[in-house]
Amino acid sequence: MRLQKVLAQAGVASRRAAENLIEQGRVEVDDRIVTSQGLRIDPENAVVRVDGVRVVVQKDLVHIALNKPRGWQSTMSDDLGRPCVGDIVSERVAAGQRLFHVGRLDADTEGLLLLTNDGDLAHRLMHPSFEVSKTYLATVSGHLAKGVSKKLRDGIELEDGPAKVDAFTLLDVNEGKSLVRVSLHEGRKHIVRRLFDAVGYPVVRLVRTDVGAVALGDQRPGTLRVLGRGEVGGLY
Ligand code: URA
Repeated sequence: MRLQKVLAQAGVASRRAAENLIEQGRVEVDDRIVTSQGLRIDPENAVVRVDGVRVVVQKDLVHIALNKPRGWQSTMSDDLGRPCVGDIVSERVAAGQRLFHVGRLDADTEGLLLLTNDGDLAHRLMHPSFEVSKTYLATVSGHLAKGVSKKLRDGIELEDGPAKVDAFTLLDVNEGKSLVRVSLHEGRKHIVRRLFDAVGYPVVRLVRTDVGAVALGDQRPGTLRVLGRGEVGGLY
């Protein structure tokens, strides 16, 4: 496997940043500094170091779908001791396995969070140019007026630039609330809440149901499942 891919997969840096580390002479393979790009190594047997620190190369890639409960942090550990997805994962996944969460959900958002020990994939899925589609069920306060769907699909100017949804379906209106399914390629912080705030309908509940071809289905909150091969293939 190419050295920069090994570094990216181990979560050291994105492939591009790994190339910079190599160029800067900060990467050693079997006690020799490597400065040329594209060196192929056997990731299971080579000893790789960055700035003198051994890089743990993952042999088996793991991909997990987790249904994050409301109120939990998306992180693998939390300095303030709040409940976080790392607590759920550490009970189920072999010790020492270093997992990355692919993006984040707000603490108040529930639903599908992908976890993987493939740092390269995690970096790429979070990069705006990768543009994986994400689908959410949003319960918003108020009965949605006609024209809101068009406004959101046409795009809204937010404080950090324009944003839009790619698909919008009104599913239900009940007791002063509307249930909407939206899909978007955006990963910016609080993006769904900010879009609905901008059109005057604050989100009261938000659940992510799909990331690319991976669907939450009827997976219960607080549980995780290992993705099947077909699902994993769709992410690369
Ligand atoms: N948009 C939000 O507003 N919150 C999330 O957690 C994800 C998308």
